[in-house]
Amino acid sequence: MSFDPGKFRRIIDKLLDLPYRLIIRLGVGGEFFLSSDLQDGVVRLSHHPKVEGVSFSTNLVIGEDRIQTFLDQANIERLGMGVTLHDTQIKNIDGFFQKVKTVQDRGALVYVGYVGLPDRFDDISAYKRTLDDMGVPFILNEYNGSTQNAPYPQAYTAGERDFLRQHFFSEHYYRMLVQRDSPQGKSCLAGHRYIYLNNKGQVFNCGMDRNREWELEWNGLQKFAARFNPEWARAIQTRRVLRNSQGNILDDRFQLELTASPRLCPYPACTCGNEVQAMKSVGSDYHRTRTLRVIYPRGREAEFEGKYPNLTPVENDPD
Ligand code: SF4
Repeated sequence: MSFDPGKFRRIIDKLLDLPYRLIIRLGVGGEFFLSSDLQDGVVRLSHHPKVEGVSFSTNLVIGEDRIQTFLDQANIERLGMGVTLHDTQIKNIDGFFQKVKTVQDRGALVYVGYVGLPDRFDDISAYKRTLDDMGVPFILNEYNGSTQNAPYPQAYTAGERDFLRQHFFSEHYYRMLVQRDSPQGKSCLAGHRYIYLNNKGQVFNCGMDRNREWELEWNGLQKFAARFNPEWARAIQTRRVLRNSQGNILDDRFQLELTASPRLCPYPACTCGNEVQAMKSVGSDYHRTRTLRVIYPRGREAEFEGKYPNLTPVENDPD
């Protein structure tokens, strides 16, 4: 989908008009450092008094001088970064870790993300040791795919699960992503203190509301429309999904209506790393940070903040 810089800037304007403190995670389709518009947006957000945190993901393949230039412009105290490690594609792993260290030493809350592929467990242990020595959180995701027709994460063996549990940065993510605990019926801040915006400015309680497109059965009208033109059927489906939306933030009549209390999750799974931290229990069991993906356990602050010096908590949810 093409990126519209003007729309991106207008969405930022509208977000900054909201009467709330903001922690923002930008989901970027391409590489962040290849877009000056994205960099300008993050720099602007990072200096705004309403913004407590702004983060994004990157593969850090650009040169260190360009990373430094960006860091010079941003408000580091509000900046977060998720760096994806594509070790099968990059030639210079030491150079990669050197760039991560540069970001870490400047004070941004940076983490390195990696996928828990069963045949990479030795590398995972080595990367975790390296990053722990640097004080950088190493954040694993579950492998979501098939190997020899075995669908993961269900196909992880007990031993592999044990390994992952020890290497996941937080137990919450291990349970939700690897064990696939169901959030259904559990209290969640989606629509109360958390919202999801797509790149058109459409506002949803959470990304799963947007994804319902794939879940909703086609109704009679769609089936009828599909006989004449599949595009009509798809348009009907899109309209049904948009009924789950609160509206478009770019619409001048738009009013964000947050619910008075958390909602009970209607879905059987929540597997997005950004979204699953919206569950209410995360606020009681963990500290959230300016980097949406990084949480650390309450009661173990001294240990975690000592080991990972850029960790600082953001204000907790009110009870
Ligand atoms: S737990 Fe996940 S899927 Fe459920 S409401 Fe919250 S963010 Fe949405």
